[in-house]
Formats: sequence, structure tokens, C-alpha cells
Amino acid sequence: MLKSSRIDSTSIQEAAHLVATADMMLFVTGAGMGVDSGLPDFRGKEGFWRAYPALERSGLDFASIASPRAFRERPEVAWGFYGHRLDLYRRTKPHAGYDILRKWGESTPYGYKAYTSNVDGHFQKAGLDDEHVTECHGSIHYLQCLKACTPEIWSADAFVPVVDEANCLLLNEPPRCPHCGGLARPNIYMFSDNEWLENRTLIQNKSLDYWLGHAERLLIIEIGAGTTISTARQFTHQTAFDFHAPVIRINPQDAGIYGHPNHISLTMGGLDALKSIDALLE
Ligand SMILES: [Zn+2]
Repeated sequence: MLKSSRIDSTSIQEAAHLVATADMMLFVTGAGMGVDSGLPDFRGKEGFWRAYPALERSGLDFASIASPRAFRERPEVAWGFYGHRLDLYRRTKPHAGYDILRKWGESTPYGYKAYTSNVDGHFQKAGLDDEHVTECHGSIHYLQCLKACTPEIWSADAFVPVVDEANCLLLNEPPRCPHCGGLARPNIYMFSDNEWLENRTLIQNKSLDYWLGHAERLLIIEIGAGTTISTARQFTHQTAFDFHAPVIRINPQDAGIYGHPNHISLTMGGLDALKSIDALLE
């Protein structure tokens, strides 16, 4: 126990050194980043059903409800699920770790970018510049036509869902496509999804690629990116390899990372780790 805490304190010092000497920072986050804000991370079937007991009664796991098929076959349940999440993400305050990242990123010579598989919009809500965020799975705060009759993506701001949480059902009118009048869905990349409109994410990616093209002393800080839906983690590995960049990987589980002498693993929660590093910088 003593040994592991000593290793962690050395790792935190090394992480602080990397933060203090980086020219530019890339923040990569997955579901674990939201846990300290009080958001569920849907870890396994059990974790998912704990958050949505009504879906367990209907035998619907995450992959079944998070699909265009669910919107076609059971629109009031699919919108019950996404309407609840939209409302939850709107009223949840992002934790202080986001402020720490923003502060570090803004004080770095070439600034920062964020790449996230989260659809909660919490980087923007925490005050990070929308232009600096890439949402690889889209965002719950935008809508598109379920049939993708138009490439248009529009803000979900006008839609205020009323949800019967106990039964995971949308009680009010779901949002409609302004072109065909058919059902609208969140502009989120779902399971078995052939209709997701990725234009918004492609533009974000382009801006990120351009910025990375100028990378010299890039530091990647990855937080709460899991191994189950591993898009964010794979992006870390590829970018670290392409730009010979060190990574600080923060995750209470599976924090191990190899391939660069300066990679650092912190087996900790996101907020705890960021606060610990930040305390050494002040
Ligand atoms: Zn349409």
C-alpha cells in the first residue's frame, strides 16, 4: 500500500513536469470523465440497468436502445432514454477538473484541443472554446432527421423533453425534421447506425488535424477513456505514435500505457488526479 502510494506521488510529480513544459495540449476523454460530475458511465449491463431500471424490465440493453432501430420501432422509449439524458446533461454542472484543463490549455503557448467520445457537451458547458472540441460520436445537443432526408444538423435547444423516468417514456411531442416532418433523433453515432450525419464531427476533425500539423512538444492527457467503447483510447494511441507525444493516462482501471519512455499512468479518478497535479503547479 505504502509502495503504491509512493509510486503514485512520483508519477504525479512527473505528470506536473510534463504539464509545465508542454507547448500544446490535447485532452482526450471518455465516459469516465463525467463520473465526477455525477453522471453514470454505463459500465456493463448491470451499471446501465441501475441507471435505467425501466429498460431492464423491457430487456433492452445499451446497444438495443442506442440505435436508429429503437427510434423506428419504439420512438417514445428511445426518446424517453435520450430525453432523460439530454435533460440530465443540461442540468448537470461539469466538475472542477474541466476548469483545471481549461486553465492549463489556455496558458500553453500553442493552446489546446479536446477530443471526446462523450456526447454531453460538457467541455463547452465548462467554458472551453467550441472551436477547440472534437466530438467523435456527435453531440446530444444537436438533432438530425431519423431518415437522414437532409444533411442538415440543427440545435436541440428548442426541444424540452418531458420524461416519465419510472417507465423511460417521452410524454410530450418528440422533435420533428423541418424538411419531411418525420421523427428527428439526436445527432449521435449509435450502434448499427448507417444514418448518422457526421458533417459536424468531420469539420471538427479537420480543425484538429490542422492544429496537430504544427505539433512540437505536444502533451496528451487522457481521462476516463475505457476499453469497451475504445474510440477515444485508440485516438490517443495513434496520435501519440504519430507525433511522438507523451501521454498522461488517468483511469481508475486499465490505466497502463506503453510505447514512450515518458508515458505516465495514474490509476485514479479524473478530478482527483487533475487536482493533485494542479496542486504541484501552483
Ligand atoms: Zn427528414
